[in-house]
Amino acid sequence: MSSSTNSAPSKKWSPWSHLPKVDLHRHLDCSIRPSTLRERLKEQGVVLPSTDREFREQFLVTEPMRDLGSVLRKFLAAQQALSTPDFLTRVTRECIEDAAEEGIRILELRYAPTFIQDGHEHLSFEEIHAAIVAGVQSCRHLPIAVGLIAILQRIKPVAVAERVTEFAIAHRDTFVGLDLADNEVGFDARPFEACFARARAGGLRITVHAGEAPSADAVENVRIAAERLGAERIGHGIQIAQDPDMLRWVRDRGLVLEVCPTSNVLTQAAASIAEHPLRRLLDAGIKCTLNTDDPGVFDLDLTHEYNAVAQGLGLTEVEFRQMNEIAARASFIPLELRQIVWPSSLDQPAR
Ligand SMILES: [Zn+2]
Repeated sequence: MSSSTNSAPSKKWSPWSHLPKVDLHRHLDCSIRPSTLRERLKEQGVVLPSTDREFREQFLVTEPMRDLGSVLRKFLAAQQALSTPDFLTRVTRECIEDAAEEGIRILELRYAPTFIQDGHEHLSFEEIHAAIVAGVQSCRHLPIAVGLIAILQRIKPVAVAERVTEFAIAHRDTFVGLDLADNEVGFDARPFEACFARARAGGLRITVHAGEAPSADAVENVRIAAERLGAERIGHGIQIAQDPDMLRWVRDRGLVLEVCPTSNVLTQAAASIAEHPLRRLLDAGIKCTLNTDDPGVFDLDLTHEYNAVAQGLGLTEVEFRQMNEIAARASFIPLELRQIVWPSSLDQPAR
């Protein structure tokens, strides 16, 4: 490996650099540094364009998605890169180093063992997870608490999800939660209810992707995630902004939304940052947190998201602090580990 030649991106000044931050929604398998992805694909014999601009066009998602085929190809390139335990360890380490560098103190990384294994059948769930855990452990010296969440892919059969659930429960010492991800449209969450009941009984906390893209079922998917799957947090959930009854329901239940603004624009779940429902959700008293989703593929970091919503929606430092206090309390990482790195007392309610 030539990781020593690949240094972290230089730190850019931002008005939010000094804020202690939390990222609860970040897909590890889509968090490869673009420079590392480029180096890796080259090692794997992929013919790469000569300029950075062409590389970004071919392998990253930096414009709103228009055709699904080209987007899928980009995610598959990231998947192809994740072919060895050493590389998985490196990607995990770099992801945590970069997060710590921008002031993230609490970081939850999620991944689908089945997504990484697809195309790399020689890798077992055990090997994949051990490599990722090694990457987390290599960052123990940094002032950041890290937790791992296992993802069930709703586009795969329930029998596969059951296998991943049992795997996650068996590794309860290194997984803090379980998530359900992939396309909501046409893939009902209810068949996975038993998996989530098992996971809760096995000590895992629950977050579920729901209400992300506009669709007839988007709002109802949030209710199903909470009522049937036991989700305490919702990945995205932004479509509830259209439904006053659901806004009240989510607020009264204290559900936490993991909002990822640029991701929503790139996937066309929101037309632009200025039209993103985050402001309306906050005004309705919903517990919102700010997160990155796929920082590698989207070539962004959490500070980028703060800048985007400060400019596009007029969010203020006071609001960022409130959202981080909510996120720090909603994290699934054990309290004693979060408290070491977080400046306020986490057994007190967020102010
Ligand atoms: Zn996500």
